[in-house]
Amino acid sequence: MTRPLLFLDVDGPLNPFAAKASRRPEGYTTHRMRPRGWDHPRAKPLRVWLNPGHGAQLLALPYDLVWATTWADEANTWIAPNVGLPDLPHVDWSCDDYSRDDGTYFKTHDLVDYAAGRPFVWVDDETGPADREYVAAHHGAPALLHHVDPRKGLLPGDFEALAAWAAQLPGRAGEEAAGG
Ligand SMILES: [Mg+2]
Repeated sequence: MTRPLLFLDVDGPLNPFAAKASRRPEGYTTHRMRPRGWDHPRAKPLRVWLNPGHGAQLLALPYDLVWATTWADEANTWIAPNVGLPDLPHVDWSCDDYSRDDGTYFKTHDLVDYAAGRPFVWVDDETGPADREYVAAHHGAPALLHHVDPRKGLLPGDFEALAAWAAQLPGRAGEEAAGG
């Protein structure tokens, strides 16, 4: 049986961009990046904080990781090597607006389509009630929308919650996670 998916946002969970500029969270390193759309010669490079230990912690979880970020395929260039992740697949976005008419975040419909009935967790700093309602109504399998504080990024408690959710899934994925 296939493992559940873990849809991974970058800005918020991996890059705690909302922390005070003078208060980089412990364990993070500072990077200056020029991804697409940020490559105007006079634009200051984008400051990104990343934790080099996060990749190993994510890979230890019983999920298949998928980028779910506006960095899209560029997450493999700019983010993955700095957190210790391999190249990962990414979700393409079909919506140009921040949110849709039904109040969902722009990512929500595409993630449900990508999952295609496979259990998933979605780790993001911008999910809300409309997204939970949409997923519950349109996704015929277990799903967890796991919110991360963009001032703090992923914390030990987040990894524990993700491991615990996989462990309680019915079927083999959960048994493996529980060591059975
Ligand atoms: Mg985000």
